Amino acid sequence: MPEKSKDHRCNECKAPVAERPTVIEFDGQEIFLFHPVVCAGCLMELCERFATVCANCGGAIPPYSQVGVLKDEAGHRQFVHMNTACQTVGSAFHGYWGRGNLHNFIEIEAC
Ligand SMILES: [Zn+2]
Ligand SMILES: [Zn+2]
Repeated sequence: MPEKSKDHRCNECKAPVAERPTVIEFDGQEIFLFHPVVCAGCLMELCERFATVCANCGGAIPPYSQVGVLKDEAGHRQFVHMNTACQTVGSAFHGYWGRGNLHNFIEIEAC
């Protein structure tokens, strides 16, 4: 049986987290994080350490978010926001940007 405890604790500093999602403003964007449970202070620190740069708009892509993945001609990966403004028709990949690493990298078959 899943626990119904509302006693969420920050994954980083173990401080109690009263509300989810954790919401902060980072680089002019509102960031909502449901999972993992991280307090606002730690989330800000994680964003500063692990955010990557959007190849389209040049803005920060915070950790724990979905990203579009582009490959340049040399095969290097570039990341873009998963939104209609930044994700171009050419983005054939997406993944989950974690703590400075790409997870669940999925190639969408382009036809
Ligand atoms: Zn914390
Ligand atoms: Zn962008």
